[in-house]
Amino acid sequence: MAETAPAETWRTAHEAALLPALGRPQRLLTHGSGARVWDAEGREYLDLLAGIAVNALGHAHPDYVRAVSEQAATLGQISNYFASEPQIALASRLLALAEAPAGSAVYFCNSGAEANEAALKMARRVPAGPGGAPRTTIVAVEGSFHGRTMGALAMTSKEAFRAPFEPGVPGIRFVPFGDEAALRAAVDETCQAVIVEPIQGEGGVRNHPAGYLRAAREATREAGALLVLDEVQTGIGRCGAWFAFQRPDIGEGIVPDVVTLAKGLGGGLPIGATIPFGSSAAHLLQPGQHGSTFAGNPIVTAAAGAVLDVIERDGLVAAAQDLGERLASALMKADGVTAVSGAGLLRAFELPELDSHDVVAAALEAGFICNAVSAHRVRLAPPLIVSAEQLDAFTAALPDIIAAAARRVKDKEKEKEAAA
Ligand SMILES: *Cc1c(COP(=O)(O)O)cnc(C)c1O
Repeated sequence: MAETAPAETWRTAHEAALLPALGRPQRLLTHGSGARVWDAEGREYLDLLAGIAVNALGHAHPDYVRAVSEQAATLGQISNYFASEPQIALASRLLALAEAPAGSAVYFCNSGAEANEAALKMARRVPAGPGGAPRTTIVAVEGSFHGRTMGALAMTSKEAFRAPFEPGVPGIRFVPFGDEAALRAAVDETCQAVIVEPIQGEGGVRNHPAGYLRAAREATREAGALLVLDEVQTGIGRCGAWFAFQRPDIGEGIVPDVVTLAKGLGGGLPIGATIPFGSSAAHLLQPGQHGSTFAGNPIVTAAAGAVLDVIERDGLVAAAQDLGERLASALMKADGVTAVSGAGLLRAFELPELDSHDVVAAALEAGFICNAVSAHRVRLAPPLIVSAEQLDAFTAALPDIIAAAARRVKDKEKEKEAAA
């Protein structure tokens, strides 16, 4: 499709001013409402990505706007030398929602990577076991994504993300995805922690085989190591439970040692949280050993409080479960789709014959925002306020989107032939 003049203008300005690290953005978005957003040329899109599993309440939710505005007009930033009511209220609520045992505590930060950095620092503090062997290793799973800062990056499996930044944080051991025996073998007396996403997000929305998280729990308990669950993408209702590990089919009843959160928590404002479960985990970091200037300030904690309020009041956890099932079964019916993964409203559908980037480009042209999460998988992580009708509109359009993506493949082949 030919670019119109305004698009050229913003693209040029973007290229002139912004670091190219993340690649070229697809559209200039100007405003949103609920699950819809509009671009600078006035085109409307159904947002099935929600800022990557972030905007639980969609765009410009009135209760969210009110809470953030009122807090900004009352008390914004205060530093950790002072406490605020929204911060205390949010921490208590998160502990209750996570069903965290007595002695658990919340550390607030500003992103998913930072939440995992705090977990990493806790892991480094795990005392040696009865054998006295020094603890030096952290076990992570192939396909994992834990963030882009140096510590979180070290636990992220994708070689292409890590290689340019060697030497990285040492002591990280990767185990093959889904291999329970390899996981158990890697967790020995030198292990500080196992970090795992209940469902791998960036790795392609991949569900672990049954029993995997239970094996991680057993192995870490035996070794005296921490089980860290990275719920940055799966948490806060997205997977049809407040936390994915609380789903019997995912967590199988396990209780973790540390849970990390971010994405869905702040409804768009940057906030993350690290929650050590129980008092021994909560005392790994001593006063003065960690912190961040902005962390858990009144505005972001008031925003997160409003997110939790609306999710609770409007039954959005149950809605994520029901809508997710409806979406998954409709996706499975589309010609060419061979698998649907995930849980609740974190989903991916697989099209082995197509490049997911072509599908996402065709969807965008048709007015739907989704994401190429791996070579053949398209991720959907809509706001939890999305309606059944909106999801149905996407699944109804999917056959045409798939056909358009297939045409893109043919066109590219023709271009290649012409060039040869
Ligand atoms: C997105 C993500 C992160 C990193 O979060 P940022 O806020 O981008 O730093 C970490 N873990 C998981 C599982 C994620 O999906």
